[in-house]
Amino acid sequence: MLKKVLVVDDSEMIHKMYRLVLNRYSCEILDAMDGQQALDLLERHQGVQLILLDINMPVMNGVQFLEKAGALGFTSRIPVVIISTEGKESDTIRGLQLGAKGYVKKPFNPTLLHELIAKLMLPSGEVADFDQRRYANTL
Ligand SMILES: [Mg+2]
Repeated sequence: MLKKVLVVDDSEMIHKMYRLVLNRYSCEILDAMDGQQALDLLERHQGVQLILLDINMPVMNGVQFLEKAGALGFTSRIPVVIISTEGKESDTIRGLQLGAKGYVKKPFNPTLLHELIAKLMLPSGEVADFDQRRYANTL
């Protein structure tokens, strides 16, 4: 059961789209416009179960976020899925090396995100183990 998601993206439109796509879970959605805001939200909120992460953002990008969140111990507890545009493969690979659980290319198919959430979240709210390569859809 998905109860709390952190969405990190610098586009308001993308946040609105996630809200529509995630509507079926009736989960709480925390919105961050950059990596620094995401870190601040993680410090203040317990129980985040999934982080959907853009790479290209001002202030602190997705790779920098993964470095800091990893050092603070967040990413060992909370799965991160990179949802980013094409053409930044080196950043995406770096993100996966830094502990991201998967990669979905933008603009993404909502079905793919639902499938990923189903694979990732056990009914208990625990995070399942899964093969990240399955979701590295352009790598
Ligand atoms: Mg962006």
